[in-house]
Amino acid sequence: MATLLDGRKLSATIQEELTEEVKKLKVASGKTPHLAAILVGNDGASETYVASKVKRCEEVGIQSTLIRLEENITEQTLLYKIEELNANPAIDGFIVQLPLPTHISEQRVIEKIDYRKDVDGFHPINIGRMAKNLPAYIPATPFGILQMLERYKIPTSGKHCVVIGRSNIVGSPMSILMARNTSVGNCTVTLCHSRTQNLSDYTKKADIIIIALGKPAFLTADMVKEEAVVIDVGITRVPDSSKKSGYALKGDVKFEEVAEKASYITPVPGGVGLMTVTSLLYNTLLAAKKEIYK
Ligand code: NAD
Repeated sequence: MATLLDGRKLSATIQEELTEEVKKLKVASGKTPHLAAILVGNDGASETYVASKVKRCEEVGIQSTLIRLEENITEQTLLYKIEELNANPAIDGFIVQLPLPTHISEQRVIEKIDYRKDVDGFHPINIGRMAKNLPAYIPATPFGILQMLERYKIPTSGKHCVVIGRSNIVGSPMSILMARNTSVGNCTVTLCHSRTQNLSDYTKKADIIIIALGKPAFLTADMVKEEAVVIDVGITRVPDSSKKSGYALKGDVKFEEVAEKASYITPVPGGVGLMTVTSLLYNTLLAAKKEIYK
């Protein structure tokens, strides 16, 4: 039976460390880190994510400002708002919650953010610097996974890592990070996606599988080799009348059967999701301390 990679426990530990760091910064410089978040429209999942980011900021002593904008605002208005945040010295870092309404270009929005305040790590400058192994903000979900692998002391050097899904926010950066010449890294990486043929030929040979596609229970035990490390990024809401919310959160892994075979596995919920917010707080602290960019 696999050991659980417990995102709840680990994020609580890192959160305590962050709280201490924030306190130290305040004592040393009188500065309180400040994160702003822009939320456009009323998408249910986005509301939940942003609310959890704001709450977790409060818990570690990071100041947060939530800017809500109407679903039908123009792209230009959003870009002006971003320029204001770029120019505001009181804001250390900020995020624009994705997805955006379809009439707004995500790419133009991301590129408008000052890369030095881009604590989500989505700006092409941060992605490029990450790829070159230069100091950069690393996107929160991949960063959270790196932290998990590091803190659980999971060997990665020389291992075969299969990443499933090639999104800009998870799969693609993850594949770059796992191949870098860094202590968590040095893997031989295979990036699989919707056009991959015979996916299980790859997954069956993987020492580490990181799956981010959004299809509940997609990865089954017959696709996984004995003792593999399995990281489940997927979060899908499925209707569940037994829950107060009316839905349950499901990962991309058929947990019960894969856990029998794997050496380590993340649960959903209670795995990668919590680490993601922790990493955003971490990046905000780095921004306040000007550790990545002066
Ligand atoms: P996405 O939804 O943008 O894209 C899905 C990816 O899966 C695509 O790259 C596609 O090529 C690939 N794919 C689709 N069908 C496939 C198949 N049959 N075989 C192999 N690959 C296939 O990706 P995303 O934004 O990274 O989201 C993926 C999942 O991760 C979603 O459930 C999302 O909610 C979740 N997510 C979780 C967190 C977290 O903090 N835990 C963060 C971001 C995303």
